[in-house]
Amino acid sequence: MRLDGKVAIITGGAGGIGHATVRKFLREGAKVVVADLDLERAQSVVDEADADGFAGSAIAARVDVSSYPDVVALVARTVEEFGRLDVMFNNAGIAGGRPLLEQNPEKDYYPMIRIDQDSVYFGILAAAHQFVAQDSPGVIISTSSIYGESAAENAMVYGAAKAAVISFTRSAAYELGPRGIRAVAITPGRVNTHMIQRLGSELGELFKSQQVSGKLTEPEEIANTVAFLASDDASAINGTVVHVDEGYSAFKQRFA
Ligand code: NAD
Repeated sequence: MRLDGKVAIITGGAGGIGHATVRKFLREGAKVVVADLDLERAQSVVDEADADGFAGSAIAARVDVSSYPDVVALVARTVEEFGRLDVMFNNAGIAGGRPLLEQNPEKDYYPMIRIDQDSVYFGILAAAHQFVAQDSPGVIISTSSIYGESAAENAMVYGAAKAAVISFTRSAAYELGPRGIRAVAITPGRVNTHMIQRLGSELGELFKSQQVSGKLTEPEEIANTVAFLASDDASAINGTVVHVDEGYSAFKQRFA
């Protein structure tokens, strides 16, 4: 019950990492807003959790994280429902990409930057305003990626957006730290969610072979880290990147 009574927004809450994090937070006693573009799937996550009878409680909310007014409205809805905000998990995102010479900005650059980069800036900004307004600090956790720290095939725009997530996090921690607000980025490696599964079994097997563990990371393993970072046990962790990649970023030479 490390998150007992804490109020959290989890964006991308209907997806793999988000769903697992919602369940972990509810087990730890949090009140959770399951926020996603897909309201129907977000509601199923809530219904499933209700049926499992966790300690915490949850509601579903539709949000397009690439819209600042939507993100502001999401925070307002959270406060209306639960009275405050303690944890903002900026997690919604999309992946993909094409070789640079096949790209055009309208299709390949702007949509991904809006969803994977602008969304995190919006989430940090809206949460920070709420933390200051309620005069009680909170935690902002944002999902980057191993590709935010190194280049990969067809990942130029995705990697740039995920690098921005790390930079936003550092600046937010620097600026908001004196108010007691923490900001942390996580960099998952290869996680067993729809994002990887849709690439097919061949690529899935390649990714597994590149992990020292020989397996994809399960979304629950990411959720455990997020719950720790959101808790008071992580009070000294601020402005940094937590690698939840089974060593991928430490062992780059293994894959050269
Ligand atoms: P997922 O596809 O299972 O879930 C992503 C969720 O985000 C979906 O429910 C989707 O509906 C939602 N979403 C997409 N666009 C949105 C928008 N505009 N507004 C609101 N919600 C939106 O993928 P996942 O693996 O759970 O990914 C979660 C995060 O983890 C993403 O930011 C992703 O980039 C990051 N990540 C994933 C991996 C991996 O291997 N799966 C690795 C590193 C980082």
